[in-house]
Amino acid sequence: MQTKDIAIIGAGPAGLIAAERLAEAGHRVTIHERMPTPARKFLLAGRGGLNLTHSEALEGFLPRYGAARDWLEPAIQAFPPQMLRDWADGLGAESFVGSSGRVFPKAMKASPLLRSWLRRLDGLGVKLESGRFWTSWTADGALSFRTGDGETVALTPDATLLALGGASWPRLGSDGGWVSLLAAKGVAITLLRPANGGFAVDWSATLRERFAGAPLKRIVIRFRGEEVAGEVMIDGKGIEGGAVYALSGPLREEIARDGFAEITIDLRPDLDLARLTEKLGKRRKGETLSNHLRKAGLSPAAVAVLRDGAGGRLNEAPAALAAAIKSTPLRLTGLMPIDRAISTAGGIAASEVDDGFMLKRLPGVFVAGEMLDWEAPTGGYLLQGCFATGIAAAAGMEAWLASR
Ligand SMILES: Cc1cc2nc3c(=O)[nH]c(=O)nc-3n(C[C@H](O)[C@H](O)[C@H](O)COP(=O)(O)OP(=O)(O)OC[C@H]3O[C@@H](n4cnc5c(N)ncnc54)[C@H](O)[C@@H]3O)c2cc1C
Repeated sequence: MQTKDIAIIGAGPAGLIAAERLAEAGHRVTIHERMPTPARKFLLAGRGGLNLTHSEALEGFLPRYGAARDWLEPAIQAFPPQMLRDWADGLGAESFVGSSGRVFPKAMKASPLLRSWLRRLDGLGVKLESGRFWTSWTADGALSFRTGDGETVALTPDATLLALGGASWPRLGSDGGWVSLLAAKGVAITLLRPANGGFAVDWSATLRERFAGAPLKRIVIRFRGEEVAGEVMIDGKGIEGGAVYALSGPLREEIARDGFAEITIDLRPDLDLARLTEKLGKRRKGETLSNHLRKAGLSPAAVAVLRDGAGGRLNEAPAALAAAIKSTPLRLTGLMPIDRAISTAGGIAASEVDDGFMLKRLPGVFVAGEMLDWEAPTGGYLLQGCFATGIAAAAGMEAWLASR
């Protein structure tokens, strides 16, 4: 196949993996990135250990993409979790499966993998233009960029990949600024909303002042028949953390509809109601309730949440107390801002994209990664989705170029 000029905009995992594939196929690839250095969000993900993917079988893995499952399935089938692990191994970032089934590089960070990856891309002849901000298309269809020196550059590559990310953590470079540019071209975009983010709670003053920053560990959260085990962190304005992120999709929908959502927290999921009631039946005379609850295994923060949940009217009879501990209500009144969320829901609608991830309205312009309208919980599903769609878009671009 003839060598073509390819512009990739956005040096996150989706853009970088597409660059690798296209350069391997012999094309002249240039990545344009607005930030001074590439893959800042990928590096931030590395601070939490870099959960690359998940080890569960595809039957369990694919439903994590919810309504977008059918759309993403071919891409994930073509680049499944084991291939992602093999690819990371090939860069010297051998991975392991954690106790929860999540996959991490042994180094538990992104920087060694990224360094090795950028060396590989450099060896393949990929050019990285940092500090180059894509602003729009010119009237005659060229890509228009603003450089770090304030100059304007116009380019007419043979094909373009947009891998511009979502809108969370905008200071790392992905701010959703592309929405208005694509909408102006008639591309349907589902509203960008926070995913895997925290929720607002009207805590009592005591809880807010004394327990902001305290974790609630080994809890189970229940909401509309779903339950998630894990932990959350009390924040002055609400709650954050894995257990609530996992329910962020349905909670977000309910809050949008009703203005609030009510979850229940099981503060002692390891004890059933009967055993907890029995334990709480052994209260010493004169013992304060707080002390009694602490002896029953509740942290001071858990006691405060329990008291808040009862609106200050906690029934101290053992059976009632046990029932309250097993099912403490918590009303979530809103979403934390998208700039603090781990990922973004919404984006380019599936109906706008062909099987090769090309925009139907803009032939020659391909899209991949978090800017597409899919969401998934934390657990490695986000990076897997970005890598797989980056690779699928690269394959789609090759096929399109070959067909012309
Ligand atoms: C705190 C945190 C922890 C996370 N941990 C994990 C994890 O452990 N596992 C997991 O699976 N996922 C994790 N994620 C999510 C994951 O990092 C993202 O889903 C992923 O980085 C998205 O990849 P992307 O390539 O689509 O976009 P991005 O990584 O956002 O990259 C897009 C790039 O495009 C650039 N860009 C945007 N607009 C322009 C423009 N106009 N011109 C030029 N360049 C532009 C941006 O600067 C950016 O570099 C985490 C996210 C956060 C915030």
